[in-house]
Amino acid sequence: MRGLSLVIALSTLGLAAQDPPAPRALTAPAAIPATPDAALAELLAGNARFVAGKRSRTVDTGQDPILRAALVKGQQPFAVIITCSDSRVPDSLVFDQEAGRLFTIREAGNAPDLQGLASAEYAVEHLGSKVVVVMGHTGCGAVKAVREAQGRPLPGNLWALQAGMAGLLESTPEAPDEGASAYGARLEAGNARRQAQALLDRSDLLRERTAEGRLKVVPALYHLDSGNVDLLKPATPLVETAHH
Ligand SMILES: [Zn+2]
Repeated sequence: MRGLSLVIALSTLGLAAQDPPAPRALTAPAAIPATPDAALAELLAGNARFVAGKRSRTVDTGQDPILRAALVKGQQPFAVIITCSDSRVPDSLVFDQEAGRLFTIREAGNAPDLQGLASAEYAVEHLGSKVVVVMGHTGCGAVKAVREAQGRPLPGNLWALQAGMAGLLESTPEAPDEGASAYGARLEAGNARRQAQALLDRSDLLRERTAEGRLKVVPALYHLDSGNVDLLKPATPLVETAHH
């Protein structure tokens, strides 16, 4: 009986893992996860739908006018996504979340500058976001550019990319016979970890919310080929804490 009522409940929400997914009867924004763990679980569930080709929240375009009208009243994005500007990393689709659910900060190399940091603090403090995901991705051109420059200044304002990833090459040296592709993947993961730790190092607010259990800051890596988002182990706290 409980199983049956669960199926009915999931069907009502349009979230059942059925094929094809039923269009969601959207009359109000979906429920907001109440805790950091629930927020993370919601993102991972959405990513699983995306990987399986079963997005259910970002396919029902007939509901767009209803959603827009609901969102005029305000937003409650439960997650902050800090990711690369790369056109192949569409975070709303990757996590299958409609408008109003994700507060996104995108900069090449997912290395947020001060404005990016302020944006994350704003979402956490004023909009109630419960998780910050710092998401690198495979095949990242920004990481590759910094790697290939090997410390030599890149042209134009690209030096800022190098500054944002300062210390990455030193902390993640290439292993003998590792191969360019494997080393690149290690740098991409290492950068996401370091950027997540740097957020905490640079932000009293994010650090306090994390200590209070009201926020989680999580590094992750998006795989261009599979569409999968892997959560990464946090970095060991950086010694060379950057206070700007
Ligand atoms: Zn990138």
